[in-house]
Amino acid sequence: MASAFGLVGDLPGSVTAGCGLRVPYAMTSGRPDRVTCLACREHAGREHLRFAREVERLSAAPGSVIGADQGKLAADRHRELARRFGQNP
Ligand SMILES: [Zn+2]
Repeated sequence: MASAFGLVGDLPGSVTAGCGLRVPYAMTSGRPDRVTCLACREHAGREHLRFAREVERLSAAPGSVIGADQGKLAADRHRELARRFGQNP
């Protein structure tokens, strides 16, 4: 079954989708090719971009437990996900 809603939380049973609706967990997905709700897609794209910036910032900070190289890799992955959700980095 195709998932209509983008997943943002993980409470058991039902979750809050990216657009703010409470929906059954089984109707959600974190995969860009499965989320059909436009508001969820926009939300997920923004969140992945936000996380990409955050992980780069943290990995560049003095004393970070993850190195700048790792941070860059993780950021690139999230930027790619954001792009697949329709966001332009
Ligand atoms: Zn939605």
